[in-house]
Amino acid sequence: MLNRDKSRGALHIAIVGSGPSGFYAAEALLRSDQHVQIDMIERLPTPYGLVRSGVAPDHPKLKQSILLYEQIARHEKFNFLGNVMVGRDVSIAELRGTHHALVLACGAHDDRPMALPGDDLVGSHTATEFVGWYNGHPDYRDRTFDLSHDVAVIIGQGNVAADVCRILAKPVDELRNSDIAEHALDVLAQSEIREVYVVGRRGPAHAKFTAKELRELGTISNVTATAKPEECVLNDQSEIELGDRSNVNAVKNLEIFRRFATQDETFGKRKIKFRFCVSPVGLLGQERVEAIVLARNRLEGPAFSQIARPTDQTEKISCGLVLRSIGYRGVPLPGVPFDTARGVLSNIAGRVVDGDEPMARLYVTGWLKRGPTGIIGTNRADSIETVENLLSDVSALDLGSRSGIQALLPILERRGVRTVTFSDWLKIDVAEIERGKKNGKPREKFTRIDEMLSLLAD
Ligand code: NAP
Repeated sequence: MLNRDKSRGALHIAIVGSGPSGFYAAEALLRSDQHVQIDMIERLPTPYGLVRSGVAPDHPKLKQSILLYEQIARHEKFNFLGNVMVGRDVSIAELRGTHHALVLACGAHDDRPMALPGDDLVGSHTATEFVGWYNGHPDYRDRTFDLSHDVAVIIGQGNVAADVCRILAKPVDELRNSDIAEHALDVLAQSEIREVYVVGRRGPAHAKFTAKELRELGTISNVTATAKPEECVLNDQSEIELGDRSNVNAVKNLEIFRRFATQDETFGKRKIKFRFCVSPVGLLGQERVEAIVLARNRLEGPAFSQIARPTDQTEKISCGLVLRSIGYRGVPLPGVPFDTARGVLSNIAGRVVDGDEPMARLYVTGWLKRGPTGIIGTNRADSIETVENLLSDVSALDLGSRSGIQALLPILERRGVRTVTFSDWLKIDVAEIERGKKNGKPREKFTRIDEMLSLLAD
């Protein structure tokens, strides 16, 4: 790879999105031997994406990656531009004019669709809404969740479902010293929920929980996690799957489910009930959810490709809350080719492509590149790949002169955008930590953008 001669000036890179994949892209750029200047653009006034608004409040260790992101953000070759929305305040085409290359790291903030008759009833929500609400994300601040019923049903068996289940089942006092939003704590303190069903369309060998997260659901005080013994019996194909060395997590999960199947169901204030090989076919109720109808599924297909096929056997569970947690999808960006089937930007190894042709100077990383899989750290390798390809491409291009933030700021000023710098964010950060102190919390988040901007105006 050619080294960019200092006399040619810096390579101005805009990164759109300030979650883990955006920060790991910045880290990879700063670690390269290229003369780079990075401008990270974020639609909220606050950085860190899902680490701030997705990671569960009772899992603070998972937020430690913020320490690294802070170091990156303080680097002299890095600017944070918060409260700037690409598509509203500035277009992709304009950013391609101001910067030598663009890395799109906007995550996957839409939900996988699930057409479910009755899903417009009050009491039916996506897990995304619930997670955003308890984590104080401004988009979800005003959602309401009625927990005045006995039974909640979560559809899907991944780690997001595990997070949501824990927040619903955990004694509220165990959440009080976390950074959970105060409005959510107030509602959870009044919760009448006694049973949380966690429903999987396939078998116990197919649940996507990591064993650590699943095991934790069996250790919540005064809560019993259960499963039906007959639903923990595997078919031959699933036995073959479990024999594969790559499937260690599924073996552990099955052991845990089988242990749950021996638990005394009468013990505990709340129960978590795992169900397998059932799919929702509809929600019932007059104005709000009163019940969910589940169809029993049969597994079909060879090992590792088994799919759930509904039978005509159904059951009804009375419930007042249904949360769909079946995975995320990326959201298309104007003028950027989108792979609708996968819910990601069309790309090859991080190079955005139109058909088979790479689009000059346009890159993608993280969930918007590979889909919503993996843990926070998975994004590091992903962003390294994207940045390596970016740097090898731009060294061969005649880039012309672009001045990055110097050209971008006048555009934003003309449009009256109040950009939030990293030092502005640090003021918000300090104020949140101060607000949290009186309740023994690590922070009390601001949940409205106006509140954050007024704090900065003061
Ligand atoms: P996920 O792991 O992909 O799980 C999605 C679940 O939804 C699966 O059980 C899937 O079943 C089910 N599903 C999909 N379509 C369905 C349908 N039409 N009907 C019924 N069920 C359906 O997604 P996620 O839970 O949203 O998590 C996203 C990523 O974030 C994962 O990589 C996860 O590990 C990560 N995460 C990690 C943590 C942590 O480390 N603590 C916390 C939260 C999230 P099938 O298998 O049958 O498709």
